[in-house]
Amino acid sequence: MISARTGVLCVIGNPIEHSMSPKMHNAAITALDLDLVYMAFNVPPGRLEGAIAGIKALGIIGANVTIPHKINVMQYLDEIHPLARNIGAVNTITNVDGVLLGSNTDGLGAMKALKECNVELDGMNIVIAGAGGAARALGFTLAPEVSRISILARRERKSKQLARDIKMANDSTDVEGFSMAPSIITRQVRSCDLFINATPVGMHPNESECILENDWLQPNTCVFDLVYNPLETKLLEMAKAIGCKIVHGLDMLVYQGAVAFESWTGICPPISSMKQAALVALDNRK
Ligand code: NAP
Repeated sequence: MISARTGVLCVIGNPIEHSMSPKMHNAAITALDLDLVYMAFNVPPGRLEGAIAGIKALGIIGANVTIPHKINVMQYLDEIHPLARNIGAVNTITNVDGVLLGSNTDGLGAMKALKECNVELDGMNIVIAGAGGAARALGFTLAPEVSRISILARRERKSKQLARDIKMANDSTDVEGFSMAPSIITRQVRSCDLFINATPVGMHPNESECILENDWLQPNTCVFDLVYNPLETKLLEMAKAIGCKIVHGLDMLVYQGAVAFESWTGICPPISSMKQAALVALDNRK
């Protein structure tokens, strides 16, 4: 029951109507019987500064930040976690006694999703397709764990820049950027332990698209698709048929939310309740 004491959590973005975060977080709040509520606020770009001031003024406990504000929001926060600073984007704000701390939980969420599927990252040779926000988050977070990262992007300049940025923060990891020429993808993918799709290829309504050809994967390669709509992309279907271990983007979505929830409340939320709510929300989108 909402009362005058109920604490507020929220997500800000533009548009925001399709966000699955309210369903996931409110499911965790209900399961834990906490006096909290999680709302979604549509914040147009011109209103971002005011919205952040509002978080302080209203004593909102924590917020998620989504497209298009993940980068611009940084200038309005009091402190930025070093990992988020490296990634160059914030997806979580924690209000600690009026001080707003920005962090990025995407990479940690991805790492937890991989660990949940018993993917042992230590010493792995990984390939990340894409050089956008999600690729940056995964690259910076996974770099200390793995031995080699190859970044493949359709604009080679972007993959090389990201590789340089990651390398600068993680000296002992071998990081290289490449184009997406088929000969390069084939060579990199055939020799890797983990392939991560951090592009929107295969996402609804383009479910028939796939970033890889059928014979580029080996059965001993683990395949992680960040795309979560549909739940099982063509890439994951193909990988499963070959016998590869697969990791779903929905698990990353749930875990990045869980990391944020814990930073706001100090409580580790029930993953199963959040995942169930995310699955229902995804189903309702159809
Ligand atoms: P982004 O910043 O826009 O980056 C997208 C990247 O994919 C860019 O490098 C882009 O290249 C590349 N790309 C786009 N279309 C492509 C195509 N047809 N072929 C090859 N490369 C292509 O997006 P993002 O935030 O990184 O998100 C990427 C995907 O991850 C999205 O599907 C998003 O929904 C998903 N995601 C999932 C989670 C989760 O929790 N599961 C979290 C974050 C993101 P250009 O720069 O050349 O355009």
